[in-house]
Amino acid sequence: MELQGKTVIVTGAARGIGRAIAEAFASEGANVLAADLGSLVSAPGTDWHYSLSAETELSRTAGEIREWGGICTAIEVDVSDRASCQNLVAKTVEAYGGLDILVNNAGLIKLGSIAEFAESDWERIFAVNAKGVFLMAQAAIPHLEEKGGVIINIASNAGKKGSPFNSAYCASKSAVIGLTQSLAAELAQSSIRVNAICPGNVFTPMQFDYLVKHRLQQYPGQSYAEAFDAFVEDTVPLGRKQAPKEIADAALYLARANSVTGVSLSVDGGSGIGLS
Ligand code: NAD
Repeated sequence: MELQGKTVIVTGAARGIGRAIAEAFASEGANVLAADLGSLVSAPGTDWHYSLSAETELSRTAGEIREWGGICTAIEVDVSDRASCQNLVAKTVEAYGGLDILVNNAGLIKLGSIAEFAESDWERIFAVNAKGVFLMAQAAIPHLEEKGGVIINIASNAGKKGSPFNSAYCASKSAVIGLTQSLAAELAQSSIRVNAICPGNVFTPMQFDYLVKHRLQQYPGQSYAEAFDAFVEDTVPLGRKQAPKEIADAALYLARANSVTGVSLSVDGGSGIGLS
């Protein structure tokens, strides 16, 4: 698929992996809708155990893409809310006359023992990570069908392999992989391709605001960045973290790969294979 002039929604685009994906599609000449919570971050029910992106981050991301000549509009969405997803797609179609590519990237994580894990945290993780993909796909598909289109879901290597104290997140990302395969089979006759990307370890706010603090106490005296690098060196076969741009490159590949559907592409330095 030629990406110039195509219309792309990226959820969770204010920062991290989503921002890199928005930048990558904009640099290919696509019309990018950078969607994130924006001011909804302070709406009741959206508070979380670490800071989700601030209202200003969303407009800053879109503004910085426009500064170098990319086409990018910031738009607010809560992917766990049906009306909000419908509104995002309706505004996109109104502005650009259609929708070609949907990237479901918004996500959150919380670690904790299964014995003590709060039901409300489990429900929120599933509402954003899994139901959010369903709601966005349901809103987008009627418009994608007009042209044949692409859905790319950002799952995780945690969706392929469980880990201790990470049951809600792992289960939600396994759900994304299952949803990807089912949608790929169901939508193939409409020429809509559906694929997932499973990143490994990307040093985004999800990692440095939350995961490193809670997981990497075995690297005392090191900064979060140093602890993260040491952890990756010790546990990842290729010994390196993934850059947000590497996940974005995989998204560009899947957007163009006309014969590829139903895959969950690991971009994880071999984490899925492991070292032993
Ligand atoms: P991040 O926390 O930096 O970015 C996630 C974005 O999603 C934030 O901007 C946040 O505001 C937004 N978001 C959260 N809830 C939302 C909602 N209800 N509606 C709309 N937006 C919402 O995290 P990241 O590391 O960039 O993660 C992006 C995706 O990649 C997530 O789905 C994550 O699970 C996945 N992932 C990340 C890693 C990693 O190592 N960072 C590894 C595997 C998978």
